[in-house]
Order: sequence, then C-alpha cells, then structure tokens
Amino acid sequence: MKIYNTLSKRKEEFVPLEPGKVKIYVCGPTVYNLIHIGNARPMIVFDTVRRYFEYKGFDVNYVSNFTDVDDKIIKKAIEEGVEAEVISQRYIAECKKDMAAMNVRPATTHPLATQEICGMLDMIGDLIEKGHAYAVSDGTVYFRTRSFKDYGKLSHKNLDDLQAGHRTIKVTGDEKEDEFDFVLWKPKKDGEPYWESPWCNGRPGWHIECSVMSKKYLGDQIDIHAGGEDLVFPHHENEIAQSEAANGKEFARYWMHNAFLNIDNKKMSKSAGNFFTVRDIAEKYDLQVLRFFMLSAHYRSPLNFSAELMDAAKNGLERIVTSVDRLNGFEKVAAEAPMTEAEAENWKTVESLIAKYEAAMEDDFNTADAISAVFEMVKLANSTSSAESSKTYLTAVKEEIQRLCDILGIITEKKEELLDADIEDMIAKRQQARKDRNFALADQIRKELADKGILLEDTREGVKWKRA
Ligand code: AMP
Ligand code: ZN
Repeated sequence: MKIYNTLSKRKEEFVPLEPGKVKIYVCGPTVYNLIHIGNARPMIVFDTVRRYFEYKGFDVNYVSNFTDVDDKIIKKAIEEGVEAEVISQRYIAECKKDMAAMNVRPATTHPLATQEICGMLDMIGDLIEKGHAYAVSDGTVYFRTRSFKDYGKLSHKNLDDLQAGHRTIKVTGDEKEDEFDFVLWKPKKDGEPYWESPWCNGRPGWHIECSVMSKKYLGDQIDIHAGGEDLVFPHHENEIAQSEAANGKEFARYWMHNAFLNIDNKKMSKSAGNFFTVRDIAEKYDLQVLRFFMLSAHYRSPLNFSAELMDAAKNGLERIVTSVDRLNGFEKVAAEAPMTEAEAENWKTVESLIAKYEAAMEDDFNTADAISAVFEMVKLANSTSSAESSKTYLTAVKEEIQRLCDILGIITEKKEELLDADIEDMIAKRQQARKDRNFALADQIRKELADKGILLEDTREGVKWKRA
C-alpha cells in the first residue's frame, strides 16, 4: 500500500510500526459552531482510510480530538453569557450528529483538550527541563524553535529563508527570544477559563494539545498523523518540534493532508464567510450524497463545491443504489442454482474489477478510481442480470458491490427517508388543499407523511412536524 507522505513529498510503501496495527491521529475541529462541509472533508477522507485499513485486516486505533478551549469558543460564550463549556459541549454533540449522518464512524477515542491539561503541564515542564522551552516574566511559556534542529522538515521551510523574507519583523519587547518561538502556555485574561500551572494561571497553546493527546492515547510514536493541508504549517510543524524534542523519537511516520474543499476556487472557511454547514446541505440532500461527492475526487486534489457536482454525485449514487435494489428484486425470485458458464465468465470480469478497485485504493487511496471500478461493476450487473439469472450469481455480484461501497462508507440500501425540504413541501400542499376545502387530499397527505414516520401537529402558530 502506498501513501503520499508530506514529509518526503513522495508516495511511500506503508510499513506499520507494529505488524497488523495502525495508529492514526487526525486533528479534529474547534467546536464553537456547526461544522461546515470543508471540515467534513478530512472526516470523510480519513474515515475511509481507516475503513480500508480495517478491510485489509489491520487493527486500527483511530484518535481524533475536539479542540474545546480556544479564543473563538470563549468569544461565543461571552456573547451568549454562558460558560465556555456550554458552547463546546453543544457543538461537540452537534458535530457527532453530523458525523453519524455522514456515516463517519466515531473514533476509537475522541479526547477533549480540556481533559488533558495535566499531560500538557508535564510535557511543557519536560520541554523546559530539556532546554527546548522557556517561561517569561508574565508566565507565558514559549517553545525555543531554533533549539529543534529539524524544524521545517514537514513544511519544507527553512527558518533562515523565512527570516530573510520577513526582515522587517522584529522580535517584540515581550521577552520572546526569537520571532519563530511559539506559545505553549499563556496567562489567562479576565473572564477566561484557566488552569493553575507552575508558570501562571492560564491555558495551553493549540499545538501542544495534539502532541499530548496523541502521546497519551497512541504512544510516543504513531503511524499516521493527518488533517487538512492548512495544518501543515505551523500546526503540524510545531507538533513535530514539541513531540520529538520531548520524546526523543520520530513522532509520526506518515503525514497525510487533504486538499481544500473550495467554493469558487477559494478555500471554504468560517472566517471568509463562504461556507455551507453540513446542516445546510442536509436540508437539500441525503448526506450520503455529500460523502459520495467528497470521495469522487482524490483527497489530495482541491475540490470545488457546486450544485452541479452535487447533483452529479446524487445521480451516481442513485445508479448504484438502484442497481443493488434491482439485484435484490431478482434474487427473491431467482432459482437456487450454481453460476452458468456465461455467468462464471462475467464473474471473472467482476474479479478483475475488484482488483482494479483495490489497486486504486492501494495507490494512496485513490477513491475516484475506486468509484469508477464500482460503476463498471454496476454496469456489468445491470447488463448481465435478470429474473432468469442464477441466485448464486445475483447474490455474489450484489454482495461485492455492497462490500466495495461499504469500505467507502457508502450505504447501498434504498432509503425511503424524506428530506426536511420534501416534508415542508408536502405540508404546504396540505395547507393549500385545506384552503381549497379539499379535505380528502389534505387527509391523504397527512396519512402519507404518517406512514413515513412524520407526525403533524396543527397549532395556532401553524403546522409543526416531527419525526416519530
Ligand atoms: P478547524 O476547525 O478550522 O481547525 O478545522 C478542522 C479540520 O478541517 C482541519 O483538519 C482543517 O484542515 C480542515 N478544514 C478546514 N477547512 C477546510 C476546507 N475548506 N477544506 C478541507 N479541509 C478543511
Ligand atoms: Zn492538531
């Protein structure tokens, strides 16, 4: 299996630290709002990587954190007049709902930064002792970047070149020794959550959180560290400096980074305001479509979000689901019989498509090519199956399509579930029918909704609905 490693800028053969096991750490979201579909890209991509490793028989320990202490969380808490924890807990719960709806499996462990402060104090103390960090008079602790000789190895940056490009930047008068030194611990400001430490009452910097959570749940060395490409510098570069300076070992063997989800060729981000939340998308599409859309591109290629591409993904997914449904139908009436000679020939093509799918996945998780192999299998299934086919052939082909989709986290069962927008549409039609005094139609719509598990309640403020 080959993985593109940001460290070497090459595809490398994957060799696990321990045979049969993979330790993966994926940087998770900062929880101050509903996640947007840019944040969903690494979740879907690395969940798929995990699923493929499991399919290959690896025992995967998959850790992904929630950053639950941060300026943006504190700002939102102040705006709402609540504790920061209320905000972070709320959005962790919402994020988990979105993950489930995208068929992203929960991590083996989802650590929270605020629960790991002890480990952070230990690692910071250790770094100070080893001469890699220092505290200044207000209690801020900085990492002494130049003390780590490999600094820049991930982002392929050289501190002297960086400095040459920033000649005008001077070290400010805050006792920081060097402009590239970064914060490990900082003093609290009024109204902010804080923890006691030997240096000051305060809170951790962002980078130290991941070094510590990765160490605690996966050990000093891990196989794969992953996240979006915006994290390469400075976040992951700083994580390497902290972890390797503290532990004296190579931190992660492979560094994987997904490219951006863009909109009009610009990175989708909360701060730029050009984003759709996963919830926005769920109003119009089943989130399986979003997952399928994400996996239709290679994870290292930028992906531009558009309604056209989402509709294409919807059609593509429907083609697969319909094919499986059709095979299911035939299977119910087909004769119990072994494969015919012609079917055995077709089965050879199925096997070659499985090989094609695996080759694509082995080549740095090329899900785009893996999906084309599934489409070819669907095409073959559609043209070579009927009620006259043998049950053996029908079952084998159907299970193969389902198995390959399952590795991608794509559900092939036909869903009857209605989208919010469809429900609202039906309610509007029912209201119109009542206005027209067509009560039979109004009742029929209510019954149709009830059959699908949607309960209506007529209130003074209008019609309210809920899923049963
Ligand atoms: P954040 O909450 O901004 O720290 O982001 C959480 C994760 O989402 C990180 O791995 C980011 O790199 C990733 N991410 C944020 N925006 C995008 C985007 N537009 N496309 C792809 N990944 C993104
Ligand atoms: Zn991180």
